[in-house]
Amino acid sequence: MSESLLKFTKTPQAMPDKRPAAERRADFDEIYAAFQPEKARVQASRCSQCGIPYCQVHCPLQNNIPDWLMLAANERWDEAYFVASATNTFPEICGRICPQDRLCEGNCVIEKDFNAVTIGAVEKHITELAWQNDLIKPFTPRQERSESIGIIGAGPAGLAAAELLRRQGLQVHIYDRYDRAGGLLTYGIPNFKLDKAVVQRRIDLFIASGVQFHYNTEIDAAAFAELRAKHAAVLIAAGVYKARELYVPGVGLGNIVPAMAYLTASNRKGFGDAVPTFDNGALNAQGKQVVVVGGGDTAMDCVRTAIRQGAASVTCLYRRDRENMPGSLREVHHAEEEGVNFAWLSAPEAFMGRQAVEQVRVQKFRLGAVDASGRRAPVAMDQGHENIPADLVIKALGFDADDLPGMFGVPELAVTSLGTLQVDAVGQTNLPGVYAAGDIVRGASLVVWAIKDGRDVAVAMLQGLQQSQVA
Ligand code: FAD
Ligand code: SF4
Ligand code: SF4
Repeated sequence: MSESLLKFTKTPQAMPDKRPAAERRADFDEIYAAFQPEKARVQASRCSQCGIPYCQVHCPLQNNIPDWLMLAANERWDEAYFVASATNTFPEICGRICPQDRLCEGNCVIEKDFNAVTIGAVEKHITELAWQNDLIKPFTPRQERSESIGIIGAGPAGLAAAELLRRQGLQVHIYDRYDRAGGLLTYGIPNFKLDKAVVQRRIDLFIASGVQFHYNTEIDAAAFAELRAKHAAVLIAAGVYKARELYVPGVGLGNIVPAMAYLTASNRKGFGDAVPTFDNGALNAQGKQVVVVGGGDTAMDCVRTAIRQGAASVTCLYRRDRENMPGSLREVHHAEEEGVNFAWLSAPEAFMGRQAVEQVRVQKFRLGAVDASGRRAPVAMDQGHENIPADLVIKALGFDADDLPGMFGVPELAVTSLGTLQVDAVGQTNLPGVYAAGDIVRGASLVVWAIKDGRDVAVAMLQGLQQSQVA
């Protein structure tokens, strides 16, 4: 083993420089600066090169983390990139937005006593360096094939599949109802976590590689039938977008809005688009007392967006406590630094106001016994009620699958009891030649899982094509 490793006992954990909260509040730029190369090398050298690397076991892509850390520690940056990109379509994106505290870093064996190796930050650094050094090239195939594949959805699942299929020479067409590619990378996740230029740089690579994007193309029943007739196989990677509702009195008042509408408007503004619902103030938090309901990553994105839009105050209501929230604790920490007020063990009981919301009546909870989710269930407290002022409420309670199979007008497309698409072990639906991947199969999940599913299903689609040609 290289001498430059095992430095975790002497070298403390360090992240790239984080911009001060006061500066972050004033813009939508990413909050971490780039690693200085020497700092990245030193951080990589903290790895103890475990025989059983739990970091790798808990990375959905099974990334070969110890190897790329060893190469980075020895300044073999190019090789480190080739190892990192062998299993991951978007390493610089995962390095930025994976909840590493719940995945690779949360399971690093040195985490308990010495704090984990900063795996995500090194992964981002290695890949950014590869971009700078012009190592990342279009994946134009050596030989073209005549068969074409239709992919519904240009999010991470669809894109990950597209790359592997295009590499094999297939003609890949991606259809998306939006005017830009990226799915939630583009219109969900805010710029301060993932700069849109980072996503666009990848999309440009797909275009240069011959993947054909068809924007503003909503696939409905008729279009779905056309795609099946036109392409050798079809992949549905349409994500999940049906917002979970709040069922409390007053929820129909004005200025109570769903998280995706709010975040999409903000992201569109970031692109410089004209956004009437933002420009008329409806989806703009500036000067407002904002209440966000929910405790997941979407809620964290909403509270931090509202701060940057210049809200007068931002309060997050979550019915469990900090330890039992689904969102990443790292994100909560950033939000607290930026001035978000967290009301733990609290949920809205009613919204009050004349036309638009003016106050939220809040029910306080305590934690009871563990429920089916494995977390302690919130129990309403008899005396625990208070009213807080609000003139914008954002509902961020998670997402369910849209109404499938009605969405594609194909009643025979099988769905699970959760409303997601039913697939077999390799990702094929019950319709021959129709596959599915990402959130539409898994339910609302993570980018890294969408990439994993997209890559896996591409392999199955290639095998399916081969079998149909032999038959
Ligand atoms: P999507 O990214 O949703 O892409 C689906 C695409 O399909 C979209 O472009 C959509 O326009 C298109 N589409 C849908 N229906 C049709 C149709 N009928 N016709 C044509 N096109 C259609 N994960 C993380 O790992 N880290 C994070 O920090 C993180 N933050 C998040 C923040 C927010 C606000 C949200 C909502 C999610 C976040 N996630 C995060 C989750 C992550 O974004 C998703 O798990 C991931 O994007 C799913 O990828 P996908 O390709 O399955 O679907
Ligand atoms: Fe960690 Fe995500 Fe990178 Fe895997 S892809 S090593 S989970 S940051
Ligand atoms: Fe290195 Fe931590 Fe992975 Fe062990 S678990 S190989 S120390 S990154």
